[in-house]
Amino acid sequence: MADASDFDGLSAEDEALVLESIDKWVRAKVAPVAMELEHANEYPQALVEDMKELGLFGALIDPQYGGLGLSATTYAKIVTRIAKEWMSLTGIFNSHLMMAQIVQKFGTQTQKDYWLPKFATGELRGGLGLTEPDAGTDLQAIRTVAKRDGDKYVVNGAKTWISNAIEGQANALLVKTDPDAQPRYKGMSMLIVSKIDPDTGEAKPGVTNGKKLEKLGYKGIDSGEFIFDNYECDAELSLVGGEEGKGFFMATGGLEIGRINIAARSVGIAQRALEESVAYAQTRKTMGKPIAEHQAIQLKLGEMGAKTRAAELLVEDAARMYDTGERIDMEAGMAKYFASETAVEVATEAMRIHGGYGYSKEYVIERLYRDAPLMCIGEGTNEMQRIIIAKQLVKRNPV
Ligand SMILES: Cc1cc2nc3c(=O)[nH]c(=O)nc-3n(C[C@H](O)[C@H](O)[C@H](O)COP(=O)(O)OP(=O)(O)OC[C@H]3O[C@@H](n4cnc5c(N)ncnc54)[C@H](O)[C@@H]3O)c2cc1C
Repeated sequence: MADASDFDGLSAEDEALVLESIDKWVRAKVAPVAMELEHANEYPQALVEDMKELGLFGALIDPQYGGLGLSATTYAKIVTRIAKEWMSLTGIFNSHLMMAQIVQKFGTQTQKDYWLPKFATGELRGGLGLTEPDAGTDLQAIRTVAKRDGDKYVVNGAKTWISNAIEGQANALLVKTDPDAQPRYKGMSMLIVSKIDPDTGEAKPGVTNGKKLEKLGYKGIDSGEFIFDNYECDAELSLVGGEEGKGFFMATGGLEIGRINIAARSVGIAQRALEESVAYAQTRKTMGKPIAEHQAIQLKLGEMGAKTRAAELLVEDAARMYDTGERIDMEAGMAKYFASETAVEVATEAMRIHGGYGYSKEYVIERLYRDAPLMCIGEGTNEMQRIIIAKQLVKRNPV
C-alpha cells in the first residue's frame, strides 16, 4: 500500500528549490491574471497547462507512476503559497489529488498501473464525488447506485457541488452497491469513473454534467453536477480495491489530505489578508498619523498575526503526522477547523482595516473575504470537525 507517507520527503535544500519555483510561477503567471479571471468567472486554462508542467497534478503520486511523490509537508507549503495569490487554483489540483490518493492508497495494482500515470500528468483530471442533492454531511444517505452486471457496473443517480466536474474528466465516485445494507456504510463502494474512455478519448454515454454552479467566490474552478443514467464502467478497473463495501472508509480516508489542503489554503488566505493589512495600515493616515499607530488597529493586527501563525503551525503539525502514515482525523480536523475560522476572521478584519477600499473590486481583500467562508464548509463542515475532534479526544483518553 503506497501513500505519501512512504516517501522520505525532500531535503531542506530540495524543498526550498521546489518552493522557489512555485513562488516564481505565482509571481510571473498567476499574480498578473488572477483578479481579471476571477471577476470574469473564467476557467484559468493557461494556468492549468502550467500546473501540468510543474507536476502539480502528480504532486502526491509515487514517482513510479510519474508523480513527484512529495510529502504532505511540502505539499501543504505549496498549497499555502498558491492560495496566497489565488485560492481557486489549489482546488483544481487538490480535488484531483484526493481522487488519485484513493487509487494510490486503496486501489489494486492493475488500477494503480492504469489510472495513476494518467492522473500524474494531468492528462486525465478529476475530483471526488461524494455530495448529492439530498446528502452532504450525512454521506451514508447517498442514493447513487451501482449495480454489478457481469464484468461491468451500471450507475444511476446524481451528484452535486463536484469540483472539476465540468473541466475534468474522471471522478472517484461514492456509490451504494447495496442500498439495503445495515449499517448503511457497509453498502457503500468507491468507483473511478470517467466521462471519456481514457484509451480512445471518446465520450462515454450515460453521464452528463447539468449546469455549472454559480458561487459567491472560488470562481476559478468549476463546480458542477454529474447525472448518471445507466452509465457503464468496467468493474475491474473501476471498483477501487476490487471489493464492495469499503467506499465509506476510502472517502473518509481521502478527506484527511483534503482537510490538510483546506487548512493550508486557509493559511494562504489569512497570510495575504494580514500582509495587505500590515502594509495598508502604515500608509493610510487618519487624524494625522498612520492607522497602524491607532491602538484599535494594533489590537486587530496583533490578533490577526497570532492566529495566522498558530494556524500555520497546526497545518505543519497535521501534515507531518500524515507523513508518518497514521490516521490523523483529529489533527487534520484541528488544523482545518482552526485555520478556516482564522481565514474568515482575518479576511473580515482586513476588510475593516481597509475601510471602503476593502469593499472595492480593485483590491484583493474583497476576493479573500468571498473565498474564505468556503474553507469552513468544504471537506466536512466545521460543525463536524469539532465533533470529530471531541470524539477522538474521548477515544484517545478513556477513563
Ligand atoms: C464550492 C463548493 C465545492 C464543493 N466541492 C465538492 C466536491 O468536490 N465533492 C463533493 O463531494 N462535495 C463538494 N462540495 C460539497 C460540500 O462538501 C458540502 O456542501 C458539505 O459537505 C456540506 O454538506 P451540505 O451542503 O449538504 O450541508 P448539510 O449536510 O445539509 O449541513 C447543513 C448544516 O447542518 C450542519 N450539520 C449537518 N449534520 C450535522 C450533525 N450531525 N451535527 C451537527 N451539525 C450538522 C452542517 O455543519 C451545516 O452547518 C462542495 C461545496 C461547495 C460549496
